[in-house]
Amino acid sequence: MDFKDYILFLVSAVDIVMCLIIFVHNPRSAVNVAFSLTALWAALWGFGLAMFRLSSDFSSQLFWNREFILTAALIGSSFLHFSFVFGKNDTLKLNWKKLFLIYCPNIIIFLTVITPGVLIKDILVRDWGNESILGWGYIYYGIYFTALWLWASINLLRKYKRGDQFLKTQIKYIYIGVGISIIFGATFNLVFILLGNYRYVWLGPYAMFGFIVATSYAIIKHQLLNIKVITTEIFAVSLSFVSFTELLRSKDTIEFVSRFSLFISTLIFAALLIHSVLREVKRREEMEVLTKKLRKTSKKLAAANKELERLDEAKSEFLSIASHQLRTPLTTVKGYTSMMLEGSFGKLSKIMRDGLQKVYISGERLISLVDDLLNISRIEAGRLEFNILPVDLAKIAEETVSDFQQKVKEKKIKLEFYPEPNLPPVATDPQKIKEVISNIIDNSVKYTMKGEIIVGLHQESRSIVFSCQDTGIGIDPEDLPRLFEKFVRGKGMMQVYTEGTGLGLYFARMVIENMGGRIWAESEGKNKGSKFSFSLPLADKGQAKKVG
Ligand code: ADP
Repeated sequence: MDFKDYILFLVSAVDIVMCLIIFVHNPRSAVNVAFSLTALWAALWGFGLAMFRLSSDFSSQLFWNREFILTAALIGSSFLHFSFVFGKNDTLKLNWKKLFLIYCPNIIIFLTVITPGVLIKDILVRDWGNESILGWGYIYYGIYFTALWLWASINLLRKYKRGDQFLKTQIKYIYIGVGISIIFGATFNLVFILLGNYRYVWLGPYAMFGFIVATSYAIIKHQLLNIKVITTEIFAVSLSFVSFTELLRSKDTIEFVSRFSLFISTLIFAALLIHSVLREVKRREEMEVLTKKLRKTSKKLAAANKELERLDEAKSEFLSIASHQLRTPLTTVKGYTSMMLEGSFGKLSKIMRDGLQKVYISGERLISLVDDLLNISRIEAGRLEFNILPVDLAKIAEETVSDFQQKVKEKKIKLEFYPEPNLPPVATDPQKIKEVISNIIDNSVKYTMKGEIIVGLHQESRSIVFSCQDTGIGIDPEDLPRLFEKFVRGKGMMQVYTEGTGLGLYFARMVIENMGGRIWAESEGKNKGSKFSFSLPLADKGQAKKVG
């Protein structure tokens, strides 16, 4: 066995590996099946040629000679098959009629190759190797073979013209492979032997190898089969192949047993290796898919967020305009009703006075609602201005508590104020903090039906803590975390107090947080009362003047 034969075996082995890889990766794809068949015949062709060259007795020479003539014809058929299905949907198959027409001429070739004298007249042993003397039919075989390749090439050329850029690149690769194999194959395996030169037939499979590799590459690229997996597969299969040949070359039983166990270990190792690489590749692919999805979702989210911001701005704008427009006529209504009630436009009957009193109260309520809305729109537009001064919080709280005494009396509940004596001033806006305290006490009054409300004030390290504890309806634990958000009211509040807006505590939080403080609520649950507190930092010693 010389070097050329080693190469022939090696080329056949690689053809087989390509055949298996492409087939195993997608056995349902028509393209993969057609190509795997082509590679299988190419491998058998190269193998047959090598065996023919190595055979010394006539019967095996004849057997291998017939084998490689038949397998060469089969390569042509499968390549034609491939040229029909390539580029189409991978799962599309040719119908049985077409397949039969493509493959049936091989029956005739088989019959002619086993008929003595038609394709093989004789086999002679020369000093350079075995030579097959061609029969009369070989010229027709040559024409048939050339026609098959031409047809397949034209098929691919048509697809090239109609295909997109990607398909064009793929077909270019296949053409390079076909070009190499046709130049070599036609020269050494057709023209040369027809002219009576049989010395270079071994060059054909070498060229065919180029075709197999180029086409495999085109398929791999198309189906995005991972190169890492394929390389591992080739490595694992080669390793198993080497270990198998070693096994065949064992001289005695002991050697056979040890090589057999080595072979089995290699197979297991190869399987594990492929499995782990496949798993890793799959995981990476999944990660890539996930990352892509995530990127898409975050893009969508960003767009949605922008839209929301835009809507929010539009809403604030509307709120601001509407509130301004509402405030002026309401002030007029309130002013005139107040004057009427005071008797500026003459004496009023009792019925008129009662009616006007109701108009006045409703007007006041509306003004306070519009004020809340104005505050919110100012906060959102960043236009809420603070006039921060050192303030005596106890004084402000006391004033506010006394403002509510009349109301609590009517409700028959108690409202008491317990400040720690001599509290230092806090840094805050006196007007706004009064509004906040008023909101909190007002809520306690609103939501307490019996019992008492205790307002407290004490110092905690560098801040003053205000608290307002009541024995009212309490807060559902579900509602607690959201109470300080815009337009949020507790569950069922609509029944308890219809006029609420859910803006008071939001405004309070905005004010307190803007002044470096904190606001929070506590409640043991429904009907267990609630406690609202806030803390504000002490004023710097430099700011001596107290306001309140
Ligand atoms: P409003 O009182 O107009 O609904 P607020 O922002 O002042 O709006 O209060 C938000 C919600 O907090 C109220 O709807 C109510 O559910 C709850 N809440 C506030 N203060 C109390 C309190 N003292 N007791 C029970 N629930 C309260």
